[in-house]
Amino acid sequence: MATCWLNGKFLPEDQAHVSIFDRGLLFGDGVYEVAAVFNGKLLDADLHLARLEKSLAAICIPNPQPTSAWLEIMQSLAEQNGIAEGLVYLQVTSGAAERDFAFPANVTPTAFAFARKKSLTNDPNAKGIVLHAVQDIRWARRDIKSVAMLAQVLAKQEAKAAGAFEAIMHDRGVVTEGGSSNLWIVQNGTAVTRPLSHSILAGITRDVTLELAAMGVPVMERAFTLDDVRAADEAFMTSATNFILPAIRLDDAAIGNGAPGPITMRLRDAYFVRAHAKTT
Ligand code: PLP
Repeated sequence: MATCWLNGKFLPEDQAHVSIFDRGLLFGDGVYEVAAVFNGKLLDADLHLARLEKSLAAICIPNPQPTSAWLEIMQSLAEQNGIAEGLVYLQVTSGAAERDFAFPANVTPTAFAFARKKSLTNDPNAKGIVLHAVQDIRWARRDIKSVAMLAQVLAKQEAKAAGAFEAIMHDRGVVTEGGSSNLWIVQNGTAVTRPLSHSILAGITRDVTLELAAMGVPVMERAFTLDDVRAADEAFMTSATNFILPAIRLDDAAIGNGAPGPITMRLRDAYFVRAHAKTT
């Protein structure tokens, strides 16, 4: 039985229970983070925990653990569950209280975390993924990593039913982001991704990719359209537990020559080199 962590205790997952009055369940009043585990070590968990602070502050939940404690909990979960490659998920909700929309007084946040194995090195998706276009029907504060994700559940289900790996969410043809990733295109050697705003999540992998691109790939942060994706030389997605994955098709349209692009794969390779350097 896998070990998880709930409100200060490590325990078997089948003994971890939360109240039916938890506001995370009743209202989606909570935020979360997912960090990769690589070579048995957390990757960029400090950056994920900094974003957790911002998400919590935005919805007025006090952080129940200092960053150093979160780091210990997350690393310990990876170790207790024997994870060499995978992820740690953590969630903080505003806690259990009588059902009322406005913030309750004196409520203790609920916090939990668990770990899962996931192969990052031998990922068949590195051969190229398919994107499926879905209208972005989410709220206006997508920068908050909220657990209220019904729009993404529907988008990713629609993508899956269409035989695609990821939803490419758009607002009247202008791409926002992936169902659970940031999206990029390559046009004439320049990597293009949407600038940060309330319209997208500030992806940690997006940030790291910008840092890696500084080694010699020109970058432009600007919005792009579905037509731009169809006409691009390359496209790729970034997320903490997929790293950098080439996109080779948007629905029926091949992207570039329909194979992973060279700039994408250079960045993906650089991502692995950095990940190894940070975890060994
Ligand atoms: N955008 C959305 C909507 C996401 O859900 C995610 C990750 O889950 C990302 C972007 C990528 O963020 P990160 O690179 O921090 O995993």
